[in-house]
Order: sequence, then structure tokens, then C-alpha cells
Amino acid sequence: MTKPIIFSGIQPTGRKHLGNFIGAIRQYVEGQDRGDPAIFCIVDLHAISVPYDPVELRERVYDTAATLLGAGLDPERCILFRQSDVREHTELTWLLSAVTSHGDLNRMTQFKEKVGKDRELASAALFYYPVLMAADVLAYRATEVPVGDDQRQHVELMREIARRFNARFGETLVVPELVLPEVGARIMDLQEPERKMSTTGGTPQGTVLVLDEPDVVRKKFGSAVTDSGREVVRAPDKPGITNLIDILAVARGADQAAVEAEFEGAGYGDFKKAVAEAVVEYLGPTRERYAELRPDEAALERVFAAGAEKARALAAPVLADVRDRMGYGSASQAG
Ligand code: ATP
Ligand code: MG
Repeated sequence: MTKPIIFSGIQPTGRKHLGNFIGAIRQYVEGQDRGDPAIFCIVDLHAISVPYDPVELRERVYDTAATLLGAGLDPERCILFRQSDVREHTELTWLLSAVTSHGDLNRMTQFKEKVGKDRELASAALFYYPVLMAADVLAYRATEVPVGDDQRQHVELMREIARRFNARFGETLVVPELVLPEVGARIMDLQEPERKMSTTGGTPQGTVLVLDEPDVVRKKFGSAVTDSGREVVRAPDKPGITNLIDILAVARGADQAAVEAEFEGAGYGDFKKAVAEAVVEYLGPTRERYAELRPDEAALERVFAAGAEKARALAAPVLADVRDRMGYGSASQAG
């Protein structure tokens, strides 16, 4: 059986949280053995879509790299690189614009959610973000894209972009599959369980960071919003408890029904304590390794350099095909 080509990107904006860990990072670590190759990218070019500080951006890129390595990404078993080191991403973004319509981008709910009322002031980069994301994936002819549920629409769009490209210019790009985790594809903010936990839009108290100290994690779970009932069961009108059940199930590697059975008759207070302890344990190893890895920026740069070289070697021939199909450069013999 041929192994999938896995690609996923993660933003270096802010500090990564439990939602990123459960929805994405956990899948990356598992993907290293399934994928050939498994390619993971710190998408620093996406960061300009919201206001940011250049000095801080570099710091956050290192933070994100040390978090991913701390979680178990192994540069020997995957390709880990920084997006801006591989120019093919930006060139392909522009070329894919030819088969992306303004209407497509206008339908993207993430853009609408992120801009809110300030639509006129939002950067063009924020509007255009899904095209760069399509280029990220399509440049590698990736077959699988492990992401959280919030990226479903963007993956659907990149699939459509690939299909349109192939229909117009000939079979060139691969239409990738969306891969969501079975449990935890959408971890919710602990304070506002109707909204996803998020790097840029969430509440500070409702966002559990991967690097939070154990006591901070305990406090955040302790003040998690629940409901006026008393039963630890999943239900549409119990978004807070449902979210906590999902989190505990993932942290323990158990299924949700087993969690419900275990906490039948227990109070919310004890349940929240159990979730907090499980999460402290779940994130502990990553936090400890992060502390060892983060100070050595030169070593992180070496990981990026080696990763970028491998990534470029994969993306360059795809770009050559795309240019050729689109009529750029001198006609190739193969064409
Ligand atoms: P931002 O709010 O700035 O978009 P983010 O928190 O969504 O940041 P990203 O770097 O955009 O973080 O996302 C990285 C990965 O984490 C993506 O695959 C995304 O789908 C996933 N992810 C983000 N938030 C959650 C969440 N609450 N639950 C599960 N997965 C998530
Ligand atoms: Mg996001």
C-alpha cells in the first residue's frame, strides 16, 4: 500500500493551545509513521494577515518549533520547516489565483469571523489567506491534510482549486483529503464553550496553553463554564461539559462513553479536577522538552535549514509543472 503524503501548517501567532495540540499537533506526531513524507510547516507568512510585531514573530516561530519538537516531531522522520524559507509557496499562491474567484473567498466563514464588523479595515492578506493555504498543500501534491474542524472549509476550497486547475490546464495537482481527529476536532474555549479555543480570538482564562504551568492549567479548568445541571454527559445544550468530556477522553486515550460512565453521579467540581489533572499529565512531557529545546535557537535554525532543503526539493518540480502547464518560461521538452 502506498503511504499518504501528509502536509499541515501551524501559525506562529501567539502561543499554541490545547485545541491546537489535540486537533492538530497530536495528529502530526502520529502522522510521522504513516506519511511518506509527513511535512509540517510553521506558516509564518500567514502571520502578516493580522497586526503583528516583526521582532516578536521571530520569537514565536522558535516557540512554535520547540513546541512541535517537544510534542514529539522528529526531524529524522518528518520534514519540519519554516514557510518563508521555501519561496515556492508564494509563487504558487499567485498562480493559483487564476483559478480562485473572489466569490470563493467571500464565502469563507473564518474571514467573516475574524474581521467581525471591521471588514473594510481587514488586510487583503486575511482575505487571501486560503489561497496561500491551498498553495502550501498543493505544492507537495499532498494526499492528506490533518487539521482541526475549523479548517474544513479551507480544505474544501483547496480541493476545488486543484480540481479547477486540473480541468483548465491538464492533470497536474493532487486533490487532498481532509483528515480530522475522531475526538477533539473542535476544542471549545473553557469560558465561552460555544466558541472554539483560539490563539487570536479566545478568552485568556478559557484558553489552556500547551506551556501553561500546572497550577495555571488547574485554575483554568476550575473556572470552566459548565451548566446548571449535574450530569456528566454529552448533549447539545451542555457545550461546556461536552467539551470537558472530549478533552478528558483524548488526554487519557479513552472513549467518551467510558468517561461518562466513570463520572456518573459525580459532581462537576470533581469532574473538572480530574480533567485538569489529566491535562497536566498529558501536556507535561511537551512542556518539559520545550524548556530544553527552546533556548538553542541555532539548533532550531539547523532543523529549519534541513527541512527547507527537503521541502524545496519536493515543491520545485511541482512548480515547474505548474509553470509549464500555465505557459510560463520556455516550453519544456517533457511538456
Ligand atoms: P488563530 O485563532 O489565529 O487562527 P488557531 O488557534 O486557529 O489560531 P492555527 O495555527 O490557525 O491556530 O491552527 C493550527 C491547527 O490547529 C489547525 O489545524 C487548526 O484547525 C487547529 N485548531 C485550531 N483551533 C482548534 C481547536 N479549538 N480545536 C481543534 N483544533 C484546532
Ligand atoms: Mg486558525
